[in-house]
Amino acid sequence: MTLSCFELGERMLSVDETLDALAAMTPPPVDTHRVSLASACGGVLAVDVVSPIDVPQNTNAAMDGIALAWPDEVPGSDMRVDVVGDVLAGTRLPTSLAPGEAVRITTGAPLPVGADTVVMSEQLVEIGIPDRIRVEHPERVKRGQNVRQAGEDIARGQRVLGAGIRLRPQHMGLLASLGYAEIEVFRPLRVAVFSTGDEVTAPGEALPPAGIYDTNRFSLQGLLSRLGCEIIDLGILQDDLDSMRASLAAAAREADMVVTSGGVSVGQADWVKPALTAIGELGLWRIAMRPGRPLAFGLIHPTGGGTVPFFGLPGNPVAVMVTFLQFVQPMLRRMQGEHDWQPSRLTALAAEPLKSREERVDFHRGVYTGDDAGQLWVRTTGRQGSGILSSMVVANCLIEIGDGCAAVEAGAPVTIQPFGDLT
Ligand code: AMP
Ligand code: MG
Repeated sequence: MTLSCFELGERMLSVDETLDALAAMTPPPVDTHRVSLASACGGVLAVDVVSPIDVPQNTNAAMDGIALAWPDEVPGSDMRVDVVGDVLAGTRLPTSLAPGEAVRITTGAPLPVGADTVVMSEQLVEIGIPDRIRVEHPERVKRGQNVRQAGEDIARGQRVLGAGIRLRPQHMGLLASLGYAEIEVFRPLRVAVFSTGDEVTAPGEALPPAGIYDTNRFSLQGLLSRLGCEIIDLGILQDDLDSMRASLAAAAREADMVVTSGGVSVGQADWVKPALTAIGELGLWRIAMRPGRPLAFGLIHPTGGGTVPFFGLPGNPVAVMVTFLQFVQPMLRRMQGEHDWQPSRLTALAAEPLKSREERVDFHRGVYTGDDAGQLWVRTTGRQGSGILSSMVVANCLIEIGDGCAAVEAGAPVTIQPFGDLT
């Protein structure tokens, strides 16, 4: 990896330039390992999955009733059939049926050879003659009805899932239905997380007069754990160049990525960038967006080799979450093998005027709803300061106002990013 794509001088990068630069800097996906199916949910599939069987395996009954071998003569108004056996789920009839013969069958049981039609029990009448049954309304019986064909869901040899998808509960069921007990997934990423700041105080401790409780480490850990990462929690770093440099270097020896918050502006206590420059390379650090303008990205070169991506996120709690969602998340997902990921975006109409500025992207916290006509509307959560974390709690989406847009009028369309599986 090189930082050459960052040779953009000191000017501010747009959000799109930042995303492109970060995509170019993303390390290749981590190794893969085999895990039991029961522990694979949430992981990213590392192989294409081809079905070893037909699903369903056998052509089978879709209802309880009789499986019938279609008679040679078209059934008349008084249709009677010979019942030559029973097939319950889990059993098979070893013999085949002659035209006009039937077996009693339960839902899911394999049709005997020769049978092609299932008549449901509600249409069957006992007529007091053993092994003979009458079918009511025979004119309604269509040849081939109520039968599920072998392989109609998935055919043997079919590619069912592609490498790079994140496994959800329905994938677990699908893999199990194909008989897989283990599956190859990308191993979890190890991500080291620090907070920085002399004022930042761990929850549980008494709050000093000029202190603030450490918020960011906990929202970041929540985001990371939902992405399936293993978290290396390295606590709170003081605003001190030496300890920051040593801690970043130590973290990079253990982790696939290092993420800090705070200390990346241009204040006199902002040591993250100098610390990074001492042990690696600083890439970009100013992005035309709000919240989240001061964000440092770079590469740490730990002693012993390798290159570890580093994100120095801003200090304000909303800015931390927004920049994580926009920039850290895509890189983590790619490193986990989820190559095609994009945030989901919808268009909604602004329920109120929205403030913005040209030449930067604004991410407001929003609440979107649908009206009776199916139209989405979005309003903001109110005050949008980057320290007002309650705005993230109330919101169900981010409103993304692009850098070509100075303001949004009420009733105008805007892009929203609905909160997804992380938030
Ligand atoms: P900084 O960029 O370090 O000056 O941080 C910007 C603002 O975010 C300051 O008001 C900090 O007190 C606050 N801040 C920094 N880190 C945290 C944290 N971990 N939790 C809550 N607030 C923080
Ligand atoms: Mg600070």
